[in-house]
Amino acid sequence: MKKIGLFILFTCFLVTTNAQSYETQFSKPLGQVLQEIGTRFNIKLKYDADTTGKVVTFADFRIRPYSVEESLTNVLSLFDYKFAKQDEKTYKIKAYEYPRRTPEDGKKMLAYLNTLYKNSAEWNTRREALRREVREKLQIDSALAKRVQSKPILSKIRKFDSYSVQNFALETLPGLYVNGSIYTPSSNGKHALILCPNGHWADGRYNKDEQTRFGTLARMGATCVSYDLFGWGESELQVTYTAHRTSEAHIIQIMNGLTILDYMLTRKDIDPKRIGANGGSGGGSQVVLLSVLDDRFIAACPTVSLASHFDGGCPCESGMPVSLSCGGTNNAELMAAFAPKPLCVISDGKDWTASVPELEYPYLQRIYGFFNAAQHVSNVHIPTEGHDFGINKRKAVYDFFIPTFGLDRSKLDETKVTIEQKEAMYSFGAKGEKIPANAIREFGQVEKFFNKKADAKIHSDIDLEKRAQSFVDSLKLNDKMKETRVYAVIRTHMRAVRDWHNEHPYTTVPAGINPRNSEKMTDVHRDVIACSAKPKSVHENLMTGLRKDLTEEQVEKVLDLYTIGKYQFTLKGFKAIVPNMTEKEEAYVVSQLRLAREEAVDYKTMKGEISSVFEIYKDKCEKYFNENGRSWKLMYKEFTNKLKAEKEAKKKAEEQK
Ligand code: ZN
Repeated sequence: MKKIGLFILFTCFLVTTNAQSYETQFSKPLGQVLQEIGTRFNIKLKYDADTTGKVVTFADFRIRPYSVEESLTNVLSLFDYKFAKQDEKTYKIKAYEYPRRTPEDGKKMLAYLNTLYKNSAEWNTRREALRREVREKLQIDSALAKRVQSKPILSKIRKFDSYSVQNFALETLPGLYVNGSIYTPSSNGKHALILCPNGHWADGRYNKDEQTRFGTLARMGATCVSYDLFGWGESELQVTYTAHRTSEAHIIQIMNGLTILDYMLTRKDIDPKRIGANGGSGGGSQVVLLSVLDDRFIAACPTVSLASHFDGGCPCESGMPVSLSCGGTNNAELMAAFAPKPLCVISDGKDWTASVPELEYPYLQRIYGFFNAAQHVSNVHIPTEGHDFGINKRKAVYDFFIPTFGLDRSKLDETKVTIEQKEAMYSFGAKGEKIPANAIREFGQVEKFFNKKADAKIHSDIDLEKRAQSFVDSLKLNDKMKETRVYAVIRTHMRAVRDWHNEHPYTTVPAGINPRNSEKMTDVHRDVIACSAKPKSVHENLMTGLRKDLTEEQVEKVLDLYTIGKYQFTLKGFKAIVPNMTEKEEAYVVSQLRLAREEAVDYKTMKGEISSVFEIYKDKCEKYFNENGRSWKLMYKEFTNKLKAEKEAKKKAEEQK
């Protein structure tokens, strides 16, 4: 560590106190406070949040003897926790959930959104902005750009009553596959296509309810594509289930849907004028995004999913901040972007979609009304049922798609569908034995496609290489081999400096007192200290490498390029301030500034760190003058006075002109 690193040793203080303060004397552990609330109000508390180590200040003062809910709010709000009333005597303590709000919130939000547009023109402006921002917030275009062009791996076709099933594995990002099954009608000609993203159902797309729906729709004339969630089903062969609960899943699942659509449209048996999307629960969340992002969909049916107050509780539905688009939106507004195309929202009475008939449906009708198309949006609400894709929800799906896509109702008969064993529906074989050799086998390999830091690094590499090359060019070496070696030395050094700087931010250095001015250290100062700790070899390799191929004069030129001429600039300053500088004095200043220049090349930012390094050596020079018969303060004052006088003289001269 260099000298400046030592500042830290004697500038850090730690103040401790054992005295019990006014603030702490009423403190109690959160667990105890909640237990006492439970006893006082005779209620049962369930926990979906961790209370360990959490302390409530002024604990008993937060209790309101007349209200359990006010008491809970006063205590829990300290920790970003909330409560959910489960019945008269039971409350559940939960952590704050950003995608889940209350129906009351949904109501207020829709009322607010309604103020933003009152006709189709205003709505269209909002819709375009939403489409643009959703793309950005989801970062979907960056993912789509990284896709490979590939043909799917297709299984043998299994023929059933009036339809067939074929498994597929489609490579999206290099080495990453999305697997699913295509349910195709046996009838000839072009068929409607319904993309069916999966939800978080037990057994995923192999679930009996799912197979029944796809087989039935196929029998009636619609090709259905059912595919795994990321990190579910066969995708678990590539990345484990833990990869499902990530923000990347949010992007990948939508990318998968759009890529499957691209592929399906290359098939001659698909009618591009009849493309639909239908999915339940998490699959419904995907329907919303697919319909916003791609105009090719002409009918949509989100099932037991759409609400204005819930974005979907899994990171695959809300991991990317899509609902922050355009200052705040929600799935109801995003789905409204589909107007005036046919839309059916299926809801039930026992999950968050219970609010659809009162809140979301009237809101959607208003937007569809802007296009005189209120008849194109419908809501099938099943108040007595809960969160599933049972027969009544499936019936609603059939009733929507039959007229919309001209399907054959006479073929509506679920009993004719063959329910397959899930192994039969695997593309990579019952034991995963057919997984391609290039297949990614861990999430880490997927993450790199989405690593913003990696993207930034690639850009900074390009800038850094350009800079290194410009240094070499300005030396005019006329020797290709030499140029290549010098370039490599400089590039290696620049990268080492940058990487150290990025990996050791100023926050790794505790804030102490700056001995130069006895004030609190600045962030730049802490940055310099953090960067000063890098291995000596970084600097030595640069200097030895340069000296191998360059003259001393050329080496100095490189150092000047690194520090943007700060050496000459500072030396000129000293000469201007110190009247009649002696040879001995100048030699000292030169020696110090050369040290500054050589040291400063190991720092990254010109304005901050490099200047700070020069400051240290400038201080030494000033001290030298003071100790050798000069007064820096006086010289500096005379210098500034002279400058001021010159400026005024110039101003006067100009006024007289
Ligand atoms: Zn999920």
